[in-house]
Amino acid sequence: MSGLSASKSALVLSPCLRSFAPGMKHYEDAYADTSKRDNGTSLHAGMDAYYRDGASKGELGLPLGSWQPREPKVANWVHDAIAWSEEHLEPRCESVHSEVYVAYNFSTGEVHHDPAVRERGYPDLPGYVPGTSDLVCILHTGQLLVADWKTGGGTGAEKQLLTLACGLREVYRTPEGELRKVVLAVLYAGEAGVRPHEWEVSDEELSEHKFHMQVQLMDVGVRTEAVPGPHCHSLYCGHLAHCPGVGAIVEDAAESPQGLLPAKQLVRKYDMSAELSSPAHAGFVMSRVTSAKRMLKYHETRVQRYLAAGGKVIADNLEYSKGNDGHRWRPKK
Ligand code: SF4
Repeated sequence: MSGLSASKSALVLSPCLRSFAPGMKHYEDAYADTSKRDNGTSLHAGMDAYYRDGASKGELGLPLGSWQPREPKVANWVHDAIAWSEEHLEPRCESVHSEVYVAYNFSTGEVHHDPAVRERGYPDLPGYVPGTSDLVCILHTGQLLVADWKTGGGTGAEKQLLTLACGLREVYRTPEGELRKVVLAVLYAGEAGVRPHEWEVSDEELSEHKFHMQVQLMDVGVRTEAVPGPHCHSLYCGHLAHCPGVGAIVEDAAESPQGLLPAKQLVRKYDMSAELSSPAHAGFVMSRVTSAKRMLKYHETRVQRYLAAGGKVIADNLEYSKGNDGHRWRPKK
């Protein structure tokens, strides 16, 4: 899982390593298990139960099969989300599909779809990027809506939805075999009800994303060392939380000559990745996190100023540039 969403893709291999050190996955799992994310997962399960259980449609407040909210407030979130769906979404739809698995091969354009694949039990298909879309709707306009429930965050949601849309577009062709136009949506749900953010994407944007993914996937399973880069996020690396390559960048930023840590903090008394053992150890880690955040923001601003002054920002086959959608990595022109 990624962020606070129950959907998303997961590569079998890390995007830049052939294998990862044994035990690191355990480390990630131990720290990823937050209550916020669990509530997000509970909302996803509630909405999935609603869409799959036709009998509960229109009967707000009734139990949704065997679904139980993780906390009472999640029942309210689901109640509000169902009301929103009935009023604003379903009247626009010819069909609604919940928790849809798809795997797409960005090199060959082949797609794998199997309704029996549930809860991220993805088949091992080399070369394919698997993922699960929270909601896929065929709209009365003929468009394909690919949507994602979010109970927090939202970073990277656009790229993830684009990736899912590439495969889902093949699965949900029109009866004439045509590719449908795509609409993406992030559905923020929680205390304030549902706040949808919906936008259309052009064929050009989808083609650009496919190319971007092809470039990023070229290194998957090839390198033997962690090489941080745009692929960490755009390929949803499952090791980001504990990657030594990224950790080195954080430490470097925190301790750089222009760094913000006082000299006495620079003595490495503790291991950043080890289980937190004392208030001083936790203070050591948090000092570096705070310092690194500020330093990395400073470097980001420097790069953006360099761009604004007419410079180019290139890394391998990608170019970081400013467009209507803000500053992003894009395929190099
Ligand atoms: S986080 Fe980035 S650098 Fe580390 S293994 Fe994943 S893709 Fe590679």
